[in-house]
Amino acid sequence: HSGFVAIVGRPNVGKSTLMNHVIGQKIAIMSDKPQTTRNKIHGVYTKENTQIVFLDTPGIHKRKSKLGDYMNQVALNTLNEVEAVLFLVDVSTGLGSGDKYVIEQLKKVKTPVILVMNKIDQVHPESLPPIILQYNELHEFAEIVPISALSGNNVNRLLDVLEHY
Ligand code: GDP
Ligand code: MG
Repeated sequence: HSGFVAIVGRPNVGKSTLMNHVIGQKIAIMSDKPQTTRNKIHGVYTKENTQIVFLDTPGIHKRKSKLGDYMNQVALNTLNEVEAVLFLVDVSTGLGSGDKYVIEQLKKVKTPVILVMNKIDQVHPESLPPIILQYNELHEFAEIVPISALSGNNVNRLLDVLEHY
């Protein structure tokens, strides 16, 4: 099995931390190597018969220029071409305008979106369900996976889920 996964999310939610955890040292070597002009391969995860290529999708963020509109279209094209989109959010700060903007973009995409609730080490377990509800009201997600990218907690579960896409 092999496939492409795009990672989206507002700044500071933990995208790089997750990639570092999954791919380790390789990321430093690969992160500056452009795959196309605007999509960067963050890294490749390989385990037995599985290979997952992670893509950074910088154009998804809010921009106020014509170039920004173009970047957005490029990003949306990418998101439509991958097997799954990982939408990372930060449960310690909760739902914000940056998240809402990304969700609006994701509504234009047909690819399954996996909601990754990151930084669960920062909150009490009881506070997670209401946060999940907030996101669920805004969009239908294919899966919801809580993780801590920093400690690696539940990251293996996320990789297991990805093997099915
Ligand atoms: P990015 O902008 O989405 O790539 O976010 P980064 O990976 O650079 O992470 C932003 C900050 O959040 C850094 O200080 C990370 O150490 C921190 N961070 C990332 N994941 C976690 C997590 O699971 N738990 C905690 N407590 N901090 C995290
Ligand atoms: Mg980053």
